[in-house]
Amino acid sequence: MTADKTIIDNDSDRPLHFLEQIITRDFAEGKHSQVITRFPPEPNGYLHIGHAKSICLNFGLPEKFGGECHLRFDDTNPAKENQEYIDAIIRDVEWLGYRWSGDIRYASNYFQQFYEWALYLIEQGKAYVCHLLPDEAREYRGTLTEPGKNSPYRERSVQENLDEFEKMRTGEYDEGACALRAKIDMASSNMNLRDPILYRIRKQLHHQTDDKWCIYPMYDFAHGQGDAIEGVTHSICTMEFADHRVLYEWLIDNLPVPSKPVQYEFGRLNLNYTVTSKRKLKQLVDDGYVDGWDDPRMPTLAGMRRRGVTPAALRKFCDMIGVTKSDGIVDVSMLEHAIRDDLDKNAPRAMCVLNPLKVTLTNYPENKTEMVTAAGHPNRDDLAERTLPFSREIYIDADDFREEANKKYKRLVIGKRVRLRSAYVIEADKCIKGDKGNIIEVKARIIEDTIGSDPGDGIKPKGVIQWVDAKRHAIFDVALYDRLFNDASPDSGEKNFVDVLNPESLVMKTQCVGEVGLNEAEVGTTYQFEREGYFCRDSKSEGLMFNRTIGLRDTFNG
Ligand code: ATP
Ligand code: MG
Repeated sequence: MTADKTIIDNDSDRPLHFLEQIITRDFAEGKHSQVITRFPPEPNGYLHIGHAKSICLNFGLPEKFGGECHLRFDDTNPAKENQEYIDAIIRDVEWLGYRWSGDIRYASNYFQQFYEWALYLIEQGKAYVCHLLPDEAREYRGTLTEPGKNSPYRERSVQENLDEFEKMRTGEYDEGACALRAKIDMASSNMNLRDPILYRIRKQLHHQTDDKWCIYPMYDFAHGQGDAIEGVTHSICTMEFADHRVLYEWLIDNLPVPSKPVQYEFGRLNLNYTVTSKRKLKQLVDDGYVDGWDDPRMPTLAGMRRRGVTPAALRKFCDMIGVTKSDGIVDVSMLEHAIRDDLDKNAPRAMCVLNPLKVTLTNYPENKTEMVTAAGHPNRDDLAERTLPFSREIYIDADDFREEANKKYKRLVIGKRVRLRSAYVIEADKCIKGDKGNIIEVKARIIEDTIGSDPGDGIKPKGVIQWVDAKRHAIFDVALYDRLFNDASPDSGEKNFVDVLNPESLVMKTQCVGEVGLNEAEVGTTYQFEREGYFCRDSKSEGLMFNRTIGLRDTFNG
């Protein structure tokens, strides 16, 4: 395949990205006939939007080319990991719409094999137990511009190394007292080859292996070997591992592994106005800046789900941003656009009034209630029609009424007409004020025979507003969310990301009213509240509460 040839994808009209090109080439050369990938989260936090990119890529490639994707927990550091994170990650991957092949896997499934391979390297004279203390080891390591120095423990005999490693394994040494290192090259220009640590001592119970081990393999020793055991063909990771690739290859080449996976790196997703580091997200949770990992303002998959974002929108977004070899910063408005676009097409419609103002329709009979029908969605016949009670007293939004206004104001004004969505045209006569001069009620009239047709006298209303029946409706609170950070790059430079949190990222409104069917709103369905935005029922609140997923207005122009 030549570099200047553009291959257009059959499924979408975009050109194949570099990994798809590599796989196409591998197939053409007969190197592989299927793609085996893995998604390898460390269970030390919840998944975030950046992980969604990795999930879509790792699960998407075998879906497209044939093959399978494994879900493998990279659980080599028991100190920071726990079962809550494992459960949350499984839930999130499933929610995004992906199924892994076979059982859920853990790096810890292979601890015995890794241990045996460590012994193998020692026997080959390619690994040694080093007793340099962390500070000394750092000094021996050298710098980017100066070579390192050989450890005084480097030339120990195989037998001595086997004995020392056995003492490490049986708990004779304290954490940090010694480590198993690969014997590669202390003068390498790549720091990762300067006798990297393969095993360290951690006197910690492990969530999968309990007290079986007190030595744990480093990520670099576990990852490639786990890939090889599972027959992974393309081991895809983010750019920061590019410098580790030579170590990945060294280990695969120097161990009797059953297959030879290849590591490829792609650019991680960064979003402006967003933090995508598990450590920082954990800090927001631990220090109480947000209401848990699934706070609807968090860029976690659990937070976005609770906020009403759909998996389809996230998959679309990941497709839009593409896969390249550079770490770019994506404008968060592009994510917002994908969310809005999906909801516009799929969200059932409903009416709600956030700031209720009573309107009495003085010419409508007192005890009458009629049912009007409204479409479930303007162009989706498959979404059920709604039937809405309509009677003499209704609520409209206080912002939709003015005593007087200029022509630009296309809502209800005294002496003027407006259409109530899916119901009558009404005309306002007067308003009633409270002690402080605030408007507490509007007196208006319906114009007869205007459901579904214009007024007979030819005086058409200028606008359409939403309304809710005052007798039969749902009452609820809404949480109005805004971006969590005020600053476009909250975690760059000198600043502390918690100093640029947006103090208005959550505004609660109580006593909102909506059409009566919302009493039965299901968690997991996001509605368009007409003229207000997209909302979903909160999964945690005891009473009825809706989260605003996103407003209606799109600011993305790309
Ligand atoms: P964090 O920096 O948030 O802690 P991580 O890389 O340590 O992330 P892992 O659980 O190791 O978290 O990540 C699992 C997989 O997801 C890895 O292959 C990693 O490269 C990928 N990944 C993590 N963050 C991003 C991101 N922002 N964009 C794309 N892929 C990511
Ligand atoms: Mg990681």
